[in-house]
Amino acid sequence: MHLYIHVPFCARRCSYCDFAIAVRREVPSASYVDTVLAEWRMWREREGGPSADTLATLYLGGGTPSLLAPDEMDRLVGTILKDAPLLDGAEVTLEANPDDVTGERAGDWVRLGINRVSLGAQSFSPAALRWMHRGHRPEQVERAVTHLRGAGIEDVSLDLIYGLPRDIARDWEDDLSRALALDPTHLSLYGLTVEAHTPLAKWVGRGRVRPAADEVHAVEFLAAHGILETAGFDHYEVSNACRPGYRARHNSAYWRRADYIGLGPSAHSAWGRHRQWNVRQWEAYRREVVAGGGRQPVAGAEDLTAREVRLEEVYLGLRTSDGVPGGHIQESVSGRWRAAGWAEVGLERVRLTPEGWLRLDALVGEVAEPELN
Ligand code: SF4
Repeated sequence: MHLYIHVPFCARRCSYCDFAIAVRREVPSASYVDTVLAEWRMWREREGGPSADTLATLYLGGGTPSLLAPDEMDRLVGTILKDAPLLDGAEVTLEANPDDVTGERAGDWVRLGINRVSLGAQSFSPAALRWMHRGHRPEQVERAVTHLRGAGIEDVSLDLIYGLPRDIARDWEDDLSRALALDPTHLSLYGLTVEAHTPLAKWVGRGRVRPAADEVHAVEFLAAHGILETAGFDHYEVSNACRPGYRARHNSAYWRRADYIGLGPSAHSAWGRHRQWNVRQWEAYRREVVAGGGRQPVAGAEDLTAREVRLEEVYLGLRTSDGVPGGHIQESVSGRWRAAGWAEVGLERVRLTPEGWLRLDALVGEVAEPELN
């Protein structure tokens, strides 16, 4: 089983973020861990559905999991791993903000079994970090990586954001080269989007910020692809690149449509054709678990039709450099993509090129249309 745990707390809301988070100066770590472990017991006692006797991957994401009090993180991870031990070679990832990483905490995380850390670096430009409302300074990313490596965590991923408005003092290629200088095993690259109900959306609405044009996104995405390939990275998914052998196994399970369980507010779970998702907000989720009398804190569920499964396979497969089986896409469509330079069409598989990834949603729409009509 692949297990995801959503830790919703953040010290502040970043300007672009629309995730299910709870901004807290004091994180209610004990109450959070009690609630998530209660949800975990519901999964263990549930009849039917996926079983979680052993774990191939465990991912603590957020929010900011590195804000949890150390003893409570011990209790959370320790209890779960006692119930469901890790398989040999399992991947255990923690998302962390750079300013939360100290030598001592990194040592604690290693003792808990965490062997991969994803750091929210985002940029090495002080002006860009301030604009994003991030709480760290560029040198704290460098220090965090040193602490992690000193504690024995080799597998370190850095998140970076591209496509920032032009008037922010930020040099994307300089950010990439500073990230590569830290010798990460993995990089996640996200294009900035203006999501509703975020501070950024308000700034845009009032005319204070002009989002970067689509061409800026395209230029920066393709520049990153070239720079990372030259540096020996494998750009294996539209937003992810790694040193050979360091693909993110937890996220790869999502793209393969493997079964997974999600714990915590807003977490999704999926097995076979079934999908379900938890109540989104922390307090509502907690109340649901406490008052539910053993009922899972589920906000919604669906069972995909065979056609929806096929579309999901196409969408997820085309996100990756492994692509999809040729039979999933009409030859007339894949032939047109190849002619335009958007896909490589082999005997067995169709894979999008970086130019194709830039139009991923539109291309998937072309596959979907004939089927949906
Ligand atoms: S740290 Fe991450 S989850 Fe928290 S507000 Fe910032 S972007 Fe959102």
